[in-house]
Amino acid sequence: MIQFRNLLRVLVFWATLIVINCTSYNNYAIYKVIPETKNQLEFLKSLHEKFDFWKESRQIGLPSDVMVAPQDQQEFENMLNRNNLQYEVVINNVETIIQKQKVETLLTRSSLGLGDVTFNSFMYYSEQMAYVRRVAEDYPDKASVETIGQSYEGTDILLLKISSGPSETSTPKPMIFIDAGIHCREWIAPPVALYIIQQLVENTTNAALIENVDWAIAPNVNPDGYSYTQTTNRLWRKNRRLAEGDACYGIDLNRNFGYMWMFDGASNYSCDQTYAGPSSFSEPESRAIRDWILPNKDNIKLYLTFHSYGEMILYPWGYAPIYTENADDLQRVGELAAEAIESSSTINSNYTVANSAIFLYPAAGASDDWAVGEAEIKLSYTVELPNGDAPYYFMIPARQILPVVQETFQGVQAFHKYIEEEFWTTNSASRMRKFIN
Ligand SMILES: [Zn+2]
Repeated sequence: MIQFRNLLRVLVFWATLIVINCTSYNNYAIYKVIPETKNQLEFLKSLHEKFDFWKESRQIGLPSDVMVAPQDQQEFENMLNRNNLQYEVVINNVETIIQKQKVETLLTRSSLGLGDVTFNSFMYYSEQMAYVRRVAEDYPDKASVETIGQSYEGTDILLLKISSGPSETSTPKPMIFIDAGIHCREWIAPPVALYIIQQLVENTTNAALIENVDWAIAPNVNPDGYSYTQTTNRLWRKNRRLAEGDACYGIDLNRNFGYMWMFDGASNYSCDQTYAGPSSFSEPESRAIRDWILPNKDNIKLYLTFHSYGEMILYPWGYAPIYTENADDLQRVGELAAEAIESSSTINSNYTVANSAIFLYPAAGASDDWAVGEAEIKLSYTVELPNGDAPYYFMIPARQILPVVQETFQGVQAFHKYIEEEFWTTNSASRMRKFIN
């Protein structure tokens, strides 16, 4: 009995410590702001660096979600009013949704065996990587794990390569590259990548998906930030480096890629959410992706990066509102994926497929632009996953992980089908014809 009481005391002590250590978002509000004129749109854009835009709209009539600290709310509302901007406070205390998700995460946590995966609760980084390693160990004939780099704090960043074997012809198999977790508060992204791994490797009914197409999947590329969102600050977005001479921690990895770096929609001030870093590729996490892709770029035919939220499949260019020369293909293939997701969705997902700078806002230094501009991967998408069947924002409840990962896998299969037809079947057919002639 005494032992039990002591144990209880220790537990309460740690629980209190955890609560004290956490950054609180008590009375932080979410404003939904809808611009109705071009001037209002421009004005909203001018606030991007100062406030935390969870969802940024560039389109007249489409809402932006902005989180505002209690001490800034009066000033923020005054500014909106001066510009006749329509707004609504949709959440008046962000901390309550954070706590709700935390409680649900604790309740849904089951003891996970080493190397197991779950889509019923959010996993720790170490658990996610233990799964990746276990898959490589259990299926050496089709999966291999590689350390593609280390985070600033020295954690290994892993990539799983999935292949049924080398091409038996002179044409190498096309490859699909997938990463997730660049923005660490977007918790739903890594489970999506892990589910794709599970389905491709462990579900034998999907064998055809790895027959002619190779896959490279890095399920969580910002481990320092991800762990920080679990221990200290749920809404952390950047990595965890304090660059020399900077006032604040963290570089936005999705502004740090070296194509048209700092052109627009990125900040040079370290305390901003969209701080692009002291130079392009200044960060070990973005370099890890670059250094793996470049030597493999000729084989990679599709780049997918998972983010949340917004139900959008976005394609370059993002640095400025211009289309790439293959914009029609990007739109069409994106729509195939969106249709596949929507037709299987159990949470009413409704995707928009669009050019990111035109539909959303210009943001230079993002990985999808770099994939096209420097790595010359013509098909490149940022997928903004759903936030659940209600606006849970980044705090999607654990019970909705499974519906999201399942429907997203349908979209990934549509992407695969296109890649296989375009870069394998067509090539094989033409090779056959040449052979017969
Ligand atoms: Zn993101």
